[in-house]
Amino acid sequence: MTTTRRLGSIDEISFSAVLSDLDGVVYRGEEAVPGAVDRFKRWQVSGIPYCFVTNNAEKSASAFAEKLRGLGIDCGRDRVVTSGDVALNYLQSQFEPGHGVYVIGSQSLKNRVAELGYRLVDGHAAAVLVALDRNFDYAMMKTALSNVLDGARLIGTNPDPIRPIAGGFEPSAGAITHSIAVSSGAIPVFLGKPEPEILRAAMHRTGISASDAIMLGDKLDTDIPAGQRAGVTSIFVETGVPLDARSTVKPEYILASL
Ligand SMILES: [Mg+2]
Repeated sequence: MTTTRRLGSIDEISFSAVLSDLDGVVYRGEEAVPGAVDRFKRWQVSGIPYCFVTNNAEKSASAFAEKLRGLGIDCGRDRVVTSGDVALNYLQSQFEPGHGVYVIGSQSLKNRVAELGYRLVDGHAAAVLVALDRNFDYAMMKTALSNVLDGARLIGTNPDPIRPIAGGFEPSAGAITHSIAVSSGAIPVFLGKPEPEILRAAMHRTGISASDAIMLGDKLDTDIPAGQRAGVTSIFVETGVPLDARSTVKPEYILASL
């Protein structure tokens, strides 16, 4: 069983590559988390590679990279993997292009589904792909339900019920997917963290090996188990979602801030 050790500074442990969550670790809404930007700048200078893994599928990897550059972190689009990326990989592994997909999510996500050769449909879908969509309403839930009852696979980009935003929280994609799962009785397939594929995709892309890396995250139920399942040392950073003392998930380390 893992015992958790509290670190005074991340410098107390040795590692040569960094995988990191975004929301609650690097920024909260549009505001940078204090200390985070400087820390990534130092890693950049000392040649420690980093790659960001986010369950947020609202934007493309290049849009997240642009946001990070705006905060002062050197980052190309190849240094960000989103749950949308792994969900689209899954879609491609299961369905040939030409199949219909009902997408609940951002226009950016819909465009990427269409670019892969799938038809964006409301009915007779092979899959219902669900991400965070702030326009989600009863009619969309009903359309998703009809497709799932007709046999469509229910796929969620990520299981998160909640996400931190500036000044509070908002319901996340998992809450939407679960509403469809509850009404249809279907068991959704979730990509993103806590599944390890998103970390494996990041390591594969950047040449980072699990034994060299740390995983920084602010969610005990997603970031930390994703790191552990991928064989990466996991560090809970207390700058985002509050630590749930009842959780049975034990990170290797806890850190107040970067
Ligand atoms: Mg987070």
